[in-house]
Amino acid sequence: MKTIYLDNNATTQVAPEVLEAMLPYFRDFYGNPSSMHTFGGQVHQKIEEARARVADLIGADPEEIVFTGCGTEGDNTALMSAVESNPSRKHLITTKVEHAAILNFCKHLAGSGYRTTYLPVDSLGRLDTDDLRKALDDRTAVVSVMYANNETGVLFPINEIGNVVKGRGVLFHSDAVQALGKLPINVKDLPVDMLSFSGHKLHAPKGVGALYVRKGTRFYPYMIGGHQERGRRSGTENVASIIGFGKACELAKDDVSRRMAHVARLRDKLEKALLECCPDTVVNGEREHRLPNTTSISFEYVEGEAILLRLNEYGICASSGSACTSGSLQPSHVLRSMGIPYTAIHGSVRFSLSSYTTESEIDKVIEVMPAIIKDLRSLSPFGREKFEQFLCAVGTGRAD
Ligand code: PLP
Repeated sequence: MKTIYLDNNATTQVAPEVLEAMLPYFRDFYGNPSSMHTFGGQVHQKIEEARARVADLIGADPEEIVFTGCGTEGDNTALMSAVESNPSRKHLITTKVEHAAILNFCKHLAGSGYRTTYLPVDSLGRLDTDDLRKALDDRTAVVSVMYANNETGVLFPINEIGNVVKGRGVLFHSDAVQALGKLPINVKDLPVDMLSFSGHKLHAPKGVGALYVRKGTRFYPYMIGGHQERGRRSGTENVASIIGFGKACELAKDDVSRRMAHVARLRDKLEKALLECCPDTVVNGEREHRLPNTTSISFEYVEGEAILLRLNEYGICASSGSACTSGSLQPSHVLRSMGIPYTAIHGSVRFSLSSYTTESEIDKVIEVMPAIIKDLRSLSPFGREKFEQFLCAVGTGRAD
């Protein structure tokens, strides 16, 4: 059975051109880029070329790019650097809908006396910058707001936030892991100090990322050891993956607008058809300012996991807005923060497309989905009211 992969916000396939670019660095050019000899030196040169490609995609200077091991490392490093570079300031500001790489790191910092304000979002997943204004104080070290949400695709007003933060002695970091390669980003026009990225979200391999650090920003390394990355991230470089990441950025730069127009058309087609064919179905989040590849759809009164299992029978990969852990359903913190009713959170499915997604794949989903939803609803031992009671019983709280 052919896989129909619509889970590209989780990870993407490695582009064939990326794989090709990487292979020689496993096979032939295995020298250590820090070595004195020419064999290693030529690898160093290739890393610098990859750095230039990543920088070029976002309008940065190559020396503003620090390669990391993943998006999580970039997020952790940015926050740690921000608080370490301003030791008298013990306050962080972020949002309630960030990725765990930010939320759990803020929780971790609480153990060392740091306080975090988690800004709310409205029912469409949007941030009100007045809340940010009110939260800022002279103890704030860093504001970290994601560029685009991984579950709903909703975009955050990075320019507006940057302007609020400007002149307050506060660092502004944005987790741009989901945005790179999907939206044009130009740091020359963007009032941010740091941005984190992850290779595996844009057709490079897993295990490589980058942190953009604007020139002049005080920076404290998180990984401490050798002199790699000019002392900003120690550890022998993941050479092949860095080369692959550079290639993926070059490909993304080539035709981001054309590719994403194609992706958005297919996403919109899927969304429209599912809303029309399946009753009691809503799209989560603001639809206008959104990543072009993402839709989060709630099919009320069905379990998202049940939908995923049925889709899986057709080779269709998507993800749900709740995770089954230790026997209880954990509803998505993002959808919960938006005030989405539990009945809708539990029936939410995220489809995330890529430029490899084809029209016939989308047509297949449109073909099978209405029957899946109808069938699951008819099989459910619960009516609508009972479904709400069931959710309370499994300990996920009030069905509001
Ligand atoms: N930030 C966001 C918004 C993400 O979606 C992800 C991955 O899903 C990460 C950070 C973490 O990236 P990585 O898997 O490379 O650590």
